[in-house]
Amino acid sequence: MTDCIFCKIIANDIPSFTVYEDEDIKAFLDISQTTPGHTLVIPKKHVANIFEYDQALASKVFAKIPMIASAIKVSNPDIQGMNIVNNNGELAYQSVFHSHFHLIPRYSTKDTFKMSFKDNSKKYTSEQLESIMTSIKNEIGENNVKNI
Ligand code: AMP
Ligand code: ZN
Repeated sequence: MTDCIFCKIIANDIPSFTVYEDEDIKAFLDISQTTPGHTLVIPKKHVANIFEYDQALASKVFAKIPMIASAIKVSNPDIQGMNIVNNNGELAYQSVFHSHFHLIPRYSTKDTFKMSFKDNSKKYTSEQLESIMTSIKNEIGENNVKNI
């Protein structure tokens, strides 16, 4: 895609600090370095977000993530954990519309990454959870899911 910044990084038209590359993916340092070692893993095929993957592409991309995550961890003995984040859509904080996975090493409770999940469990009845479960399950069953 011509005006996609990550496609330009794949084509080496824009420089990057690439840590791994093969025919399917590229992994390079995120310029923001939210924490030291913050790395992006992207498919070489331009897909905007997770909803545009098929199983073949997912297999190629997801299969490599544990290897890259482990390499980052081993590269620095101070790394205690890692958040793997994937934003899909502007509302979900996506700002570059070429799918990517953030590998964000964690060093301590006081490091420079924050993420919090609100616990709404007390607001749901079993019936409401059952209804949500059924609507998702129905989409997964019977080959209903688009593009997969
Ligand atoms: P997101 O907000 O999830 O779409 O993440 C996009 C990420 O791309 C941000 O964390 C940016 O810091 C990162 N980014 C943007 N341009 C570049 C670049 N030229 N090289 C490396 N990372 C970049
Ligand atoms: Zn692209």
